Amino acid sequence: MRIAIIGAGAAGMMAAATINEESPESKVFLIEKNDGLGKKVIISGGGRCNVTTGITDLKIVTRKYPRGEKFLMSSMHRFSPQDVRTWFESHGVPLKCEEDLRVFPISNDGRDVVRAFENIFADSNTNILKRCAVQKIERNTANTSFVIHIKDQPEIEAEIVVLSLGGQAYRHTGSTGDGYTLAESLGHHITPLAASLNSFITTETWPATLSGVSFEHATITAELEKEYSFTGPFLFTHRGISGPAVFAMSSIIAFEDYNPQNSLQIFIDLLPDIKTDDLFIQIQNTIKENLKKSFKTILHSYAPRSVIEVIEKEFSLRLEKKSAEISKKEIQAVIAKLKRLPVHAVGRGAGDEFVTAGGVKLEEVNPSTMESLICPNLYFAGEILAIDGFTGGFNLQAAWATGHAAGESIVNKLQ
Ligand SMILES: Cc1cc2nc3c(=O)[nH]c(=O)nc-3n(C[C@H](O)[C@H](O)[C@H](O)COP(=O)(O)OP(=O)(O)OC[C@H]3O[C@@H](n4cnc5c(N)ncnc54)[C@H](O)[C@@H]3O)c2cc1C
Repeated sequence: MRIAIIGAGAAGMMAAATINEESPESKVFLIEKNDGLGKKVIISGGGRCNVTTGITDLKIVTRKYPRGEKFLMSSMHRFSPQDVRTWFESHGVPLKCEEDLRVFPISNDGRDVVRAFENIFADSNTNILKRCAVQKIERNTANTSFVIHIKDQPEIEAEIVVLSLGGQAYRHTGSTGDGYTLAESLGHHITPLAASLNSFITTETWPATLSGVSFEHATITAELEKEYSFTGPFLFTHRGISGPAVFAMSSIIAFEDYNPQNSLQIFIDLLPDIKTDDLFIQIQNTIKENLKKSFKTILHSYAPRSVIEVIEKEFSLRLEKKSAEISKKEIQAVIAKLKRLPVHAVGRGAGDEFVTAGGVKLEEVNPSTMESLICPNLYFAGEILAIDGFTGGFNLQAAWATGHAAGESIVNKLQ
């Protein structure tokens, strides 16, 4: 049987490697539009490639997927984050787990991750077809195989097809949403699609003044039909706000409609580790000990100077006064902003999202084998499925796990 794996990203490479290692005699075509493998893997994690998570409890791991939690249970049990770590280590990519439980190659180089696959495919039965953009897939007339039409190349016939063409985020990496059209042409349905893991553009222009100012921890809260809060690294940008706390929020509200006419109010707690009342007492005590200092100088020990300047200007607070002249009300007014700084999200940072929420409808795919329940011998793996997770290695973990599951079940079918 000929197996065509379309899309050589994380999921496609893992599916091909699994087949290659468990059934070396199988004839596999790994078809990729780019001139190299794993372009997105290489740039992921800022070039360091956050391959997976250090969290080992699968119940906690699967909760990191706003969409796909249940679907992933089976493939994740069989190829857990720990298995992924063992797999890479045994394929020559030593890994390290950082304090925040993100796992990276010790080399901090995503190219090493892709190199592990290239080594597997070298001198193997896996034919890597680069610069091959698949345009159409049809069933042959006898309905026994798939005919794969490739731009400017002869067509390929294969009995088994894996669609691992990714989503449509970071389109310049090759993932341009082609997989959705191909899946639909074979009878599948695509759920609504949305950007996820994106920054927010705000109505306020003052974040531009703070562009690049970051916080190790901030809590951002949005009040929708329910209140959502996320704590994590946070960053002001030239157009709004970003960072892992914002990404987690963007993931939860991926399908929420917010725009300049209908903005989404978000509150930022820049000092989440200290309660409002305690902060008040702390500031009051500092004032008592520094009556001659300006109030503003005292505040600089709580937040960067630039942030205090913006709060003073934007909310018309008078912070230049001597501490001795500051009233309780004035302290409370600053604390209110430090603990609940309001911004209004009016859009998603265009093209800067990390993943696509939505994709091939999960009800149409067997979660253990990744085989289509609509079109026999058709498999799916990776972000093309309606699965997406938070930042922290969860999206690659999903791609490895589903790619591995597809590869294993194809091997089982061949036996
Ligand atoms: C900037 C950035 C950083 C990220 N960092 C991390 C991280 O550190 N950790 C993490 O877990 N996740 C991260 N992610 C998300 C993660 O990289 C993706 O979820 C994951 O790579 C998806 O893998 P995939 O194999 O499903 O799809 P992709 O990696 O998108 O691969 C799909 C492949 O299919 C090919 N293709 C598309 N159309 C065709 C066609 N018509 N014919 C042939 N080939 C085609 C594409 O060229 C591509 O190579 C990041 C994403 C981005 C954009």
